Amino acid sequence: MKNNDEMLQIDLCGGQVRVMLCETTQAVQKCADIHECSPVCTAALGRLMTGTLMLGIMMKGEDESVTVTLKGDGPMGSLVAVADHGYVRACADHPQIDLPLREDGKLDVGSAVGHSGRMSVIKDLGMKKNYIGQSEIVSGEIAMDFANYFTVSEQQPSLVALGVLVSGNAVLKAGGLLIQPLPGCPDEIIDQLELRSPMFADISREMTFAPIEQLCRDWFRGMDPRILERTPLGYKCTCSRERMERALISLGRKDLQSLADEDQGAELVCHFCRSKYMFTKAELVELIRSADNKPEV
Ligand SMILES: [Zn+2]
Repeated sequence: MKNNDEMLQIDLCGGQVRVMLCETTQAVQKCADIHECSPVCTAALGRLMTGTLMLGIMMKGEDESVTVTLKGDGPMGSLVAVADHGYVRACADHPQIDLPLREDGKLDVGSAVGHSGRMSVIKDLGMKKNYIGQSEIVSGEIAMDFANYFTVSEQQPSLVALGVLVSGNAVLKAGGLLIQPLPGCPDEIIDQLELRSPMFADISREMTFAPIEQLCRDWFRGMDPRILERTPLGYKCTCSRERMERALISLGRKDLQSLADEDQGAELVCHFCRSKYMFTKAELVELIRSADNKPEV
């Protein structure tokens, strides 16, 4: 299948409104395959990944990344997505739980995530500098939660639409839209955008009819939409044996020793891509030695 996943950065009305519009179908499919997600969990993780990618694209520095965690009171447990510019990875505590459809026939993402809890956004700005933003989960439907985060934590009023259309295990379409009027944007433009919001409410279904570039032209007709930048998107994990070693070392001597004392060594599984890393007893002992040589920080 051709990979159409990409982010369009658009401005409207001569730069008074910033828009991000993206397709994430393939990335969400890959996530669903890795975690063998139920349809409702595919939708939840897919929406979270899509929203996180928008934050990731806003990060400018090369070694910067953003992590969004939803800790709701629903049966999925915690959901985490990390975006590294155009790349994203995600996981959940319980990605296979299933729930009945809502009365309107839609997947009940809000109940899977939970209707209350915390959303946290950690921006890793490199050089050990982090920005942490926290907000309440307002619905668990995720788009509203992102909109609330932008308004409360970044003081940036935003309209957010996130959608994942699934049929069984197949992701038919996934994508998202973020609209941010910039300071000084006239009320008439904001009213115009609010009037048009029903057009993009069901974004993944709209995407089955037309490519996002066409949707952009249709939705923002008369508002001079200009595509400023296009970025390819994809699901990609950054784990490696070296990172796993560092994670093991960070456990500290005592826990490493008790791992080494178990007969079979240790097997670590990456939460994001399910890759397995085996460490033999001898390798663990070697790690303990390097942990000992590491100065305390
Ligand atoms: Zn991995």
